[in-house]
Amino acid sequence: MKYVSTRGQSPALSFCDILLGGLAPDGGLYLPEKYPHFSDADLTQMRGLNYRDLAFAILSRLIDDIPATDLKAIIDKTYRAEVYCYARPNQNPEDITPTLKLEDNLYLLSLSNGPTLAFKDMAMQLLGNLFEYVLQKRGETTNILGATSGDTGSAAEYAMRGKHGVRVFMLSPHQKMSRFQTAQMFSLQDDNIFNIAVKGVFDDCQDMVKAVSNDAAFKAKYKIGAVNSINWGRIVAQVVYYFKGYFAVTDHNAQKVSFTVPSGNFGNVCAGHIARMMGLPVDKLVVATNENDVLDEFFKTGVYRPRGSAQTYHTSSPSMDISKASNFERFVYDLVGQDGAKVRELWSSVDKGGSFDLNAQGYFDKVPQFGFTSGSSNHTNRMATIRDTKARYGVVIDTHTADGLKVALEHRDANVPMMVLETALPAKFEDAITEALGHAPERPASLNGIENLPQRFTVMDNSVEAIKDFITKNV
Ligand SMILES: *Cc1c(COP(=O)(O)O)cnc(C)c1O
Repeated sequence: MKYVSTRGQSPALSFCDILLGGLAPDGGLYLPEKYPHFSDADLTQMRGLNYRDLAFAILSRLIDDIPATDLKAIIDKTYRAEVYCYARPNQNPEDITPTLKLEDNLYLLSLSNGPTLAFKDMAMQLLGNLFEYVLQKRGETTNILGATSGDTGSAAEYAMRGKHGVRVFMLSPHQKMSRFQTAQMFSLQDDNIFNIAVKGVFDDCQDMVKAVSNDAAFKAKYKIGAVNSINWGRIVAQVVYYFKGYFAVTDHNAQKVSFTVPSGNFGNVCAGHIARMMGLPVDKLVVATNENDVLDEFFKTGVYRPRGSAQTYHTSSPSMDISKASNFERFVYDLVGQDGAKVRELWSSVDKGGSFDLNAQGYFDKVPQFGFTSGSSNHTNRMATIRDTKARYGVVIDTHTADGLKVALEHRDANVPMMVLETALPAKFEDAITEALGHAPERPASLNGIENLPQRFTVMDNSVEAIKDFITKNV
């Protein structure tokens, strides 16, 4: 299995060679040269496997440069009930991603029972173990530099803590994350985790990361790496739970299931697309956005028009406040018939701050063949959905999942199970839940008082020299 770039001008590489990098040298994103395919007989064999065995069945078809016994051990170490321990009382943590039935043909797929209460743990925990394995094999180390407004940074830190050969330098805007998110990250005492609170906003943090990464000499000397959402290792890990969810609500392969995915960078739903391309009987893939509706606009009109950070709204589903969906290029590559030259042409405009219109070019008609459709949600919808879900089903959901459920209800078909991906637990977004319900959501008992733990972080000026200096002193 080799991986090629969506822009068609990079050499084909193996999984371990692309794992530690980001973009391909030609600026594109990596995808398998050819998607592996699961036949009806394969699906029948996979039905009933536990999460770990299912993950191995799928990942071993996409990763062929790690010996099978080693890959199995990495997967077994990652997907344990003790790690995904925040399941609801009526769910079995052994399922890793249990389903929750709301009513006939309407389910939540619980992806947020891991250490940081968001679905990003599903992929990041695997990435942590894969990084450690590959670095050790190669006798290398890496210094991961990232910027976060909350979910990504905490998932990365919990995945990389204590890992040999890995240090994490995570920038976050000083005093701008929620108390819970701050406590989650800053209470980590591991030597290889560095929390840096930048006197500025999230965009300042991101600009600092970009400036450091653009300094090729510094980047090479200090082995600066990233774990951002375009990393193929993250996408691949996310493919597994679509299969798990599908098998949980069907009993034979002639049945189809639709999935609704709260989306920002298009990483999560891109994994659903890949699962479908690999033969999973998916009916619809519904992309749900918040007020930042760049993706909804595309799926309604064929026009992809990313916006700048100044035009990005700050919403009550903040992890979807994204106006440039970094993984979207992977789907467009498949949509235009895996034509790297076409993707280069389209992104030559996007990379200059422009847009493109696939309707005018005759590709937009093909979107339904890929199952995609979309909708958007806003603060009022979100609050109403959280209240309704509590009232009808006695279930408290978070704001991102609420965006998903709101849109899912607009796209249901009789007799086709609809699954909404639960991308965070409500405890993570206490203020918004309190606004919706008049009381705070329940918090897992083991996280009570997390705000009172000692915190380990460094306050830093919004300065590229300051972060370079800090890295130099700490590696
Ligand atoms: C990251 C995140 C999303 C968006 O996922 P993408 O893969 O970027 O589309 C949605 N909800 C939550 C809670 C998240 O943390």
